[in-house]
Amino acid sequence: MQHTALTPALRDVYDRAVLRSPGELEFHQAMSEVLESIAPVVERHPEYLESGVVELLVEPERQIMFRVPWTDDSGNVHVSRGFRVQYNSALGPYKGGLRFHPSVNLSIIKFLGFEQVFKNALTGQGIGGAKGGADFDPHGRSDGEIMRFCQSFMTELYRHLGEHTDVPAGDIGVGAREIGFLFGQYRRLTNRHESGMFTGKGVLWGGAQVRTEATGYGAVFFMDEMLAMKGDRIEGKTALVSGSGNVAIYAIEKINQLGGRAITASDSSGYIVDEAGIDLDLLKQIKEVERARISAYAERRPGARYVERGRVWDVPAQLAFPSATQNELNVDDARTLIANGVLAVSEGANMPTTPDAVALLQEAGVLFAPGKAANAGGVATSALEMSQNAARQRWDFSTSEDRLRSIMGDVHRAAYEAAEHYGAPGNYVVGANASGFRRVADAMIAQGLI
Ligand code: GLU
Repeated sequence: MQHTALTPALRDVYDRAVLRSPGELEFHQAMSEVLESIAPVVERHPEYLESGVVELLVEPERQIMFRVPWTDDSGNVHVSRGFRVQYNSALGPYKGGLRFHPSVNLSIIKFLGFEQVFKNALTGQGIGGAKGGADFDPHGRSDGEIMRFCQSFMTELYRHLGEHTDVPAGDIGVGAREIGFLFGQYRRLTNRHESGMFTGKGVLWGGAQVRTEATGYGAVFFMDEMLAMKGDRIEGKTALVSGSGNVAIYAIEKINQLGGRAITASDSSGYIVDEAGIDLDLLKQIKEVERARISAYAERRPGARYVERGRVWDVPAQLAFPSATQNELNVDDARTLIANGVLAVSEGANMPTTPDAVALLQEAGVLFAPGKAANAGGVATSALEMSQNAARQRWDFSTSEDRLRSIMGDVHRAAYEAAEHYGAPGNYVVGANASGFRRVADAMIAQGLI
């Protein structure tokens, strides 16, 4: 990877971290983006480098890896690998999701944990950063298999969790069903109904309104804020959304509610285009109820078409919301989007755009919102869930959505102003990283560099 923007001192930090974590490409990618962005910060405040806080920040506080044995419905024993990387707790208890996906390895969890540290700082909600998961593939598994896997996973992880220690939530492959099984096993092992030790819970048993919708809604609110700075809005615009999980579904819902038209969704097999606008009830039925493939949408919806494999970014539209997974939008896709006149990109997923694609979009004058700012609404609403649990309160939907909207406004303002302050106006990547970095680094310094 090229690091033209890294100063020699930051390059040293990067090189030492790479030497210590060889082969962790996604982690290197996330780290290099942050280090490049903070170059103007350390130039003005050399004390950040002199104190050693940058070097400390790139190393997780604790990394836990464990074996997860589980038995399938035919009685065969399988072994998965579980992870929890507790990255930084300077601003609050470790906080971040769990991902169950066959691609999970230490590099993926470290990159996600690293991103989470800055994202959580940006929310201003007093939460540290962590990420975890397993290389378990939930696809095609029965409810019983999922339950046994979750119970086995929690049987190891529970000792590292707690409402003041580490508070997981969902991510890819971990939704309401899995959170239920995981929380249940924690309760059984500890004999504590400790609501605040998990977020994304069912609303019947301590979950918060709007948590399910929050990541997707938040990415759309962030887009709206970005467009507003240019005197523009979502209303009347067409939008590409990739993915068909929790983030994508609720991004589509909010785009439509704000008068835009979301016309695509995808999964690992291909994508659908529905120029009339995605029928959300049908998409929810297929993805949330039936857990079927996205192709089923085109089979049931007249006028929609299914493109096997292919790139969702080939479809012309004005806005784009990559909401599937890391590195799903590459430099060729960016070229296509630009040629088709895209105005703005808001990342619903974590690091879905490759670094060269980000650079190309920014050079072409496309507004670009990095995930750690644009998708911060999910974890911010998790923090609201923690507050409600601590106070034994339940807020209604509209109160919760108002809070989310206002937090996204704050996140946008922090990133926007930091970008201006550090001489990169309109560059939300620099703004988000610089602002998140300063909050975490200042807290670490104040607490004695631990
Ligand atoms: N996994 C989500 C994220 O990437 C949510 C984490 C949380 O709510 O703790 O931010």
